[in-house]
Amino acid sequence: MEITRLNDGSKGFEKVFAFLRDRLLAGSLRPGDRLIPERELAAQLGVSRPIVREALRALTVLGVVEIRDRVGTIVRRPDVSVLDDFFTFALSQQADFLDDIMEARIAIECQAIRLAAERATVLDFEKLSRALARIVETIDDPEAGGIADFEFHRTMVAAGKSETLIILYESTTTILRRSHRSRRELLQVFSSMKTYLIDDHRRIFDAIVTREPERADQVLREHFRIGDDFRRRAAIGEHDLRNDGVATDQ
Ligand SMILES: [Zn+2]
Repeated sequence: MEITRLNDGSKGFEKVFAFLRDRLLAGSLRPGDRLIPERELAAQLGVSRPIVREALRALTVLGVVEIRDRVGTIVRRPDVSVLDDFFTFALSQQADFLDDIMEARIAIECQAIRLAAERATVLDFEKLSRALARIVETIDDPEAGGIADFEFHRTMVAAGKSETLIILYESTTTILRRSHRSRRELLQVFSSMKTYLIDDHRRIFDAIVTREPERADQVLREHFRIGDDFRRRAAIGEHDLRNDGVATDQ
């Protein structure tokens, strides 16, 4: 009896989800639209009102709808922070997640930078230029420097103007920041990395501004590769000579 009721409940729940999903995909419901009243929705889907209410409440957690007193249920454009929480929970438990996220960064960013080299506007160039200046200013501060680095890459992805790539990138913000911070920690070990960091981002910027997708892709891959190399060297215990800023091995 209990099991049957539970089954009906979850089926009803799925019906409400499917109702919304199908209409959103078809474009007959858009952000800002009001849903038909709860009672009508329940009748139309053949499920009870409590189930409709429960499903709508779950959808508010996902940011898909908003329930307003005396107004009804309004369709929203979901906030990517929901996805950010999801990705953080889903990915951060694996031991090698920093390596794993790097592979995803390469996939997303290399495509985004090609698009950016073709589509970036003058406004994007200005934003990138400011982000680059911020990298230079914060080079001695691991925390602010990690954020500046992340912001530069985020601005670059945004300049590619691909909504899906932007959402994928934004929804991994927490993990990406972590990835940037961990790379910045290597600066404590390799002071020679400072020049590399500044020069590399400048090269990336130049390739976008001169609209060379192929070169932009290559420079960015090189940026990731050198970063990996520093990580590998740190892992095997190499380091620069301290205090004089000169690398031990050129
Ligand atoms: Zn970078």
